Amino acid sequence: MNIKADTPLRFVKGVGEATGNKLAALGLLTAGDLVGFFPRRYEFRGETRLLAEVPYGELCSVVLTVCSAPKTGRGGKGVSYVKVNACDESGTATLTFFNQPWLEKSLVSGRRFRVWGRVRQNGYTFEITAPEIEPYSESLPPVLPVYPLTKGLTGQLIRRIMVNAAPLMRELTSPLSDDIRAEYSLMPRGEAVHTLHFPESREELEKAKHSLAFEELLVFQLALRRVRGSLVRHVAPVMTFKDTGIGRFFGTLPFSLTGAQERVVKEVLGDMCRNVPMCRMVQGDVGSGKTVIAAGAMAFAVKNGFQCAMMAPTEILANQHHQTLTALFKDIGITPELLTGSTSAKEKRRIKQGLAEGTVTAVVGTNAIIQKDVQYASLGLVITDEQHRFGVMQRAYLADKAEGLTPHSLVMSATPIPRSLSLVMYGDMDVSVIDELPPGRQPVQTKCIGEDKRAALYGFLEKQIKRGRQAYIICPLVEDSEGRTDDKKSVESYKKSFEKALPDLRAVCLHGRMKGKEKDAVMQSFEKGEADVLISTTVVEVGVNVPNATVMIIENAECFGLSQLHQLRGRVGRGSEKSFCIMITEKATERLEILCRTTDGFEIAGADLQRRGPGDFFGQRQSGDMRFVHASALDMPLIETTRLLAARISEEGLSPALEEAVSAFFSSLDSENIFN
Ligand code: ADP
Ligand code: MG
Repeated sequence: MNIKADTPLRFVKGVGEATGNKLAALGLLTAGDLVGFFPRRYEFRGETRLLAEVPYGELCSVVLTVCSAPKTGRGGKGVSYVKVNACDESGTATLTFFNQPWLEKSLVSGRRFRVWGRVRQNGYTFEITAPEIEPYSESLPPVLPVYPLTKGLTGQLIRRIMVNAAPLMRELTSPLSDDIRAEYSLMPRGEAVHTLHFPESREELEKAKHSLAFEELLVFQLALRRVRGSLVRHVAPVMTFKDTGIGRFFGTLPFSLTGAQERVVKEVLGDMCRNVPMCRMVQGDVGSGKTVIAAGAMAFAVKNGFQCAMMAPTEILANQHHQTLTALFKDIGITPELLTGSTSAKEKRRIKQGLAEGTVTAVVGTNAIIQKDVQYASLGLVITDEQHRFGVMQRAYLADKAEGLTPHSLVMSATPIPRSLSLVMYGDMDVSVIDELPPGRQPVQTKCIGEDKRAALYGFLEKQIKRGRQAYIICPLVEDSEGRTDDKKSVESYKKSFEKALPDLRAVCLHGRMKGKEKDAVMQSFEKGEADVLISTTVVEVGVNVPNATVMIIENAECFGLSQLHQLRGRVGRGSEKSFCIMITEKATERLEILCRTTDGFEIAGADLQRRGPGDFFGQRQSGDMRFVHASALDMPLIETTRLLAARISEEGLSPALEEAVSAFFSSLDSENIFN
């Protein structure tokens, strides 16, 4: 049978019912899905070395000849083992296999095997524990793809099924013309995809990856241009200062604006007075006071007779903004509504109706507020908090499809990004920077400590919590032997040992495997003070505000980028109490010292950029948002190349194939939407 992209996996040779179910658990339903299921990494098993050359403990390939009779036995817990000596010209190694009694028969003296494992030296001999072996032949595949798997699926099985899906790979068509492929020496898509699954060499693999990354970034850049282009072509509602009383709104605040806030407010409101849709990003360090700027813009829109919507990345943040805005708008007669996934159906209906009729003037929520079924009578402003690309693109895309006026768009970001970088990643969005903190902030006291101070740290933590404070602990991701990380496991095993050390403290966990609602429930209970300690991976990085939390403990701080650490630190120091950030590391470097010395996010970002390149600006969270499959948000040269090419192509006009790829990109944003 000839398979097609939409052929259900059950009809692909090698997939039985049980395997089909396991593949479905990975989200793979069709032959097309399977083809798009890429290896997470590769083992270059063809690059063999001599035993004596292998760096201690490194995973690698050696070719060994069995030189003793195998010995079998039983260890503790009923584990059986087979031991055998095997050698190459540089030495002899003892190989130990567990629970594979059948190997005894094939480990015949004189036979050669390609052995994959970690070589450890032990006196004059070598040891390789639990290696993988294949009878040696010249035709063994040189590169082994390793797939991200679930329980019960082996890499071997996936590789076998993949062979049966291979004809489909060749049929994939490239959105790039032959001319462009020739100009940039790129592989056709089908060939590149085939290579990712069946690589023959490092060079070929690199070329395939590069070709797919190129394609992906080019489409991304074309989409960026499309968004900006469509915004410029559209007409926005023109607002005026007349009779808005916007000055009075700022007058009602319990504080006066900083100079930087005042300047940014002027820039934002100025944009809104023009008939071109605003496309502006406000960058301000954590705690710099971005929310009142958003509030001011919202009030300005409403007083001009338009509706406004504010979109937050999570329900918990939407809740927080809703509370803050309700308080800020109390005296000026605006009542913001809250619309999220957990809003009751009845409430949803009421709010949607109000939005359609124009009686609801301000709404705060998650992506729920820009779903297609939400109609606005006269939307004038959309604000997106902490989620750059996604919000703007999504919004502009929807605006492009809608008729009438295009709302102004404002993005709030706590990540300071140098202009050069934001240009390539976000297109030529205007940027306003709040480069000043409100007066009277107590800087968070920051310290690096080693493992030897852990007992003292726990004592300190207990004291803080006895005083009624709360704490965050960011725990590192632990890798298993396959190099996989599982943040659920990491967090849960950390919690266990933490509870042993400090049994009186109430700890809760947060990790990326949780559903949005579960996460929000945990955050809410922490916010209410029902837990003392929140143990988490970096998911708390985004704008969470629990003023009573005064301690941030970061384990293995050396694993994080400076900007990311700064964001994490920004979760404390939000109330009137003195706050602390303690980084645990055995490698207190000059790099981490910068954080102890300064709390200026821009200075930190600058230092980070200098040291490590743009990587840290797109730490875990942001690169998650980027959702590139093949490309890296860090590959600045390629980003720049594709940006220039996108400009040229846009001018000449997109081919139908590229048009299709760009729409596919936008619809992929739509489908991401559903899961949020
Ligand atoms: P972020 O930029 O991280 O979103 P927020 O808008 O949440 O910061 O502001 C942090 C805190 O600072 C809030 O409690 C806010 O009320 C307060 N704040 C904002 N601007 C000022 C100001 N000009 N003077 C004093 N406090 C301010
Ligand atoms: Mg904020």
